[in-house]
Amino acid sequence: MRDWMILCDFDGTIAVDDVTDALLTSFAASEWMRIEADWHAGRIGSRECMTAQVALIDASQQAVDALLDTMIIDPAFPAFVAEAARMDMSVTVVSDGLDYAIRRILAGYGLDYLPIRANRLLHDGDRGWSLQSPFASPGCASASGTCKCRVARDQATTLLIGDGPSDFCLAGTADYVFAKDRLIKHCRTTGIPHSSIANLRDARALLPRLPGLAGIPAAFSQNLPLRRQMV
Ligand SMILES: [Mg+2]
Ligand SMILES: [Zn+2]
Repeated sequence: MRDWMILCDFDGTIAVDDVTDALLTSFAASEWMRIEADWHAGRIGSRECMTAQVALIDASQQAVDALLDTMIIDPAFPAFVAEAARMDMSVTVVSDGLDYAIRRILAGYGLDYLPIRANRLLHDGDRGWSLQSPFASPGCASASGTCKCRVARDQATTLLIGDGPSDFCLAGTADYVFAKDRLIKHCRTTGIPHSSIANLRDARALLPRLPGLAGIPAAFSQNLPLRRQMV
């Protein structure tokens, strides 16, 4: 029997907008944009980029929370999680964003029980903020704060759902990918098995077909409730 683990990106995939960018736009000194340009140009990795940017945030916890409470998620995400649970597939949020922000936003939808692997946002109790990256991997070419391919290691069968560069390293090792936006082109040009999605409603619709899409023999997917229904 193979257990499916779904690793789902947050910013741009679950959250409609990039939460880190929203926080920086509202609360960081404008120098954050110069650092962002260094990242876009490939001069630094996302871990170095975000560590420097988060240190520029000057805001109270109440102000940060108020902004986070305005962020919305793909309306199909709760139904997607329910469908995955019905099929005995676990869902873990893997993000190169900020754990505190993710947990608070998901709590607004009653979904903060999901495991989260992300950078750790720390508050000094006043107006200062800093970043730790417990899931970084010095060996990964991504130089991300959260190395998603490291998070996935040792998992039997992995579905990645994502939209951008933070997903590229895991896309290369996942068993299958539901790709959105820039991740579609990456999968196409590098020959990674994937399905293109526009949103999580598409992801939910594809979920029952996942074993077949990923080329998993029926003998390995008999534990899926859906399989039993089809027999
Ligand atoms: Mg993303
Ligand atoms: Zn990696």
